[in-house]
Amino acid sequence: MTSPKQAQAVQHEIDSLSAKISDLEDGELALLGDMEPVEESIESMAIEMTSLDGQIEALGSEAERIESEIEAEIDDLVEQRAQAAGEVGTEFIEEYEHIRPDLGARAVVTFDGKNCSGCPFVMPAMEADRVRKLAEGTVDRCGECSRLVCR
Ligand SMILES: [Zn+2]
Repeated sequence: MTSPKQAQAVQHEIDSLSAKISDLEDGELALLGDMEPVEESIESMAIEMTSLDGQIEALGSEAERIESEIEAEIDDLVEQRAQAAGEVGTEFIEEYEHIRPDLGARAVVTFDGKNCSGCPFVMPAMEADRVRKLAEGTVDRCGECSRLVCR
């Protein structure tokens, strides 16, 4: 550097760069200030996620426990059904299996002394009389609704 003009230009460049550095530092500080609440949110969300993970794990264990209870109950009911089917006899089981797709859970009903509980209306007197005369404990087919009616 020989001329004062060159020295002045360099000084101007230095001042300009210093101002830029200062602006960048201000920007960096502002960004750091902006990041603080975001980092706090991230930390809070991480804590919440840990809590939710715990809840998910607990609910998964609860679901497994309930599922195994239901499976045990189903096994028990299947066993009870097989035992009951053995007591009833194959003739009624075949008839029951035949009408069950149409009548569902109401395929076998009771007789209250006057009516078959499966009939949508009052049972005709003759049919009621016929069922009433059956021995108690007898299972017969209702002539009106086709359900198996237990006397
Ligand atoms: Zn009936």
